[in-house]
Amino acid sequence: MTTHFPFSNSYVSLGDTFHRRILPTRVAAPRLVKLNRPLAAELGLDADALDSTEGAEILSGNKVPEGAEPLAAAYAGHQFGNFVPQLGDGRAILLGEVVDRQGRRRDIQLKGSGPTPFSRGGDGRAGLGPVLREYIVSEAMAALRIPTTRALAAVATGEDVYRETALPGAVLTRVASSHIRIGTFQFFAARGDDAALARLAQHVIERHYPEAAAAPHPVRALLEGICARQAALVARWMQVGFVHGVMNTDNMSIAGETIDYGPCAFLDAYDPATVFSSIDRNGRYAYGNQPAIANWNLARLAECLLPQLAPEEGEAVEIAKEALSGFAEAFNTAYFDGFRRKIGLSERQEEDAALIQDLLKAMAEQGADFTLTFRGLGKAAEAEQADANLRALFTDPAAYDDWALRWRARLANDPMGPGERQAAMDAANPAVIPRNHLVEDALAAAMGGDTGPFERLNEALAEPYLDRPDFAAYAALPPARERAYRTFCGT
Ligand code: AMP
Ligand code: MG
Repeated sequence: MTTHFPFSNSYVSLGDTFHRRILPTRVAAPRLVKLNRPLAAELGLDADALDSTEGAEILSGNKVPEGAEPLAAAYAGHQFGNFVPQLGDGRAILLGEVVDRQGRRRDIQLKGSGPTPFSRGGDGRAGLGPVLREYIVSEAMAALRIPTTRALAAVATGEDVYRETALPGAVLTRVASSHIRIGTFQFFAARGDDAALARLAQHVIERHYPEAAAAPHPVRALLEGICARQAALVARWMQVGFVHGVMNTDNMSIAGETIDYGPCAFLDAYDPATVFSSIDRNGRYAYGNQPAIANWNLARLAECLLPQLAPEEGEAVEIAKEALSGFAEAFNTAYFDGFRRKIGLSERQEEDAALIQDLLKAMAEQGADFTLTFRGLGKAAEAEQADANLRALFTDPAAYDDWALRWRARLANDPMGPGERQAAMDAANPAVIPRNHLVEDALAAAMGGDTGPFERLNEALAEPYLDRPDFAAYAALPPARERAYRTFCGT
């Protein structure tokens, strides 16, 4: 048994302009609330050894493991459209990187581990509620097979954090393929530090886009690669009804993973105008705006890369525009291919986009639950009796009937066999998502000292594509109170 971490750090070597070396601040009484054993094993860590007093010491930041080179990373970012030249890890500290069992480099970061030079007056801490919320939702995203940061552990600190009221404090151990953001590039661009920008681009190519190194124009290939991954990512969000909530450029990972779970939440009833975050008053980050915002963020990244795209500005802008146009193309393809799978089609036909859009329009007008509608279609594709369940989700069931007629005509022209279709649809339409009421109930119980509901919810979310009778309650419609659900930034 050993609590050894096989660190192999690279970001620290980029130099002082990229980060500040800083140790986590000690906490009073660390207590492990949750350890992600399968993830620990994936990382080559000894879960039994970490599930201990010493493990809690390490995962709270009280004990810095050998080989760690703790640092807070510098970055900038557009927050709700306004540029802030200096943000950085204000309450997170990177312990270091490990190469996992599959040879992938992964960051191990403590979030809520005390102030850093980038805290800008904040306390550097996190509350237990937001930490457990990030644990639930990020692990649910991973189980949905959506690229995401992961949660290795949640540790209660035994100290209070002060927001509107005193709340129990906690530290989350976050695992990511890196924590490099669009805002990391913006930090150096804002300072005109071309040498650092070139070093950062080189690091990102080696670490995340090795295929770009061999391209005729590696930085152009890098920008195209980032656009493609963001397009694929946001399309996946749209297909499960995920609203990130705070798509500032500092919250968009260069590696194309979902990162910074603050006010995020999932749609119940489908409505593209849905905004959960209490601070997003103008709906900038509404569900339906997410593709356009991702595109806008990528344009900010492209601006940072201009000096590396071509020596002459006009030429650089042309290259950037072309790369950015790849985003819309890749997004549309990924979006419609995904929704095609969700409605049971295995081949592309021109009319499919209209069929999909008309379903979504009817769902929005009729207040249909996003997850249950698509999951229900899998059953209805095989047996028309299942239409009764679907009709009940629409305020006016006739809206479903009209659409279903067209859908069945289209299914008849698709080569997928009847036995195959439901299985294919079930693999594209989760039965269980972290619905807001489930998450809130689990957090409320955990704050009262009972982590049973939190554990059980994690279990329910671990196999989202299966119908499991034991977890039927987790797949059901939410109570009506959810209609005005609001989230708050995890600060
Ligand atoms: P976010 O939008 O939550 O990702 O955070 C935006 C910025 O605020 C980041 O630079 C964070 O590190 C910083 N920040 C958020 N909460 C705190 C806190 N409690 N203490 C210090 N910095 C914080
Ligand atoms: Mg952030």
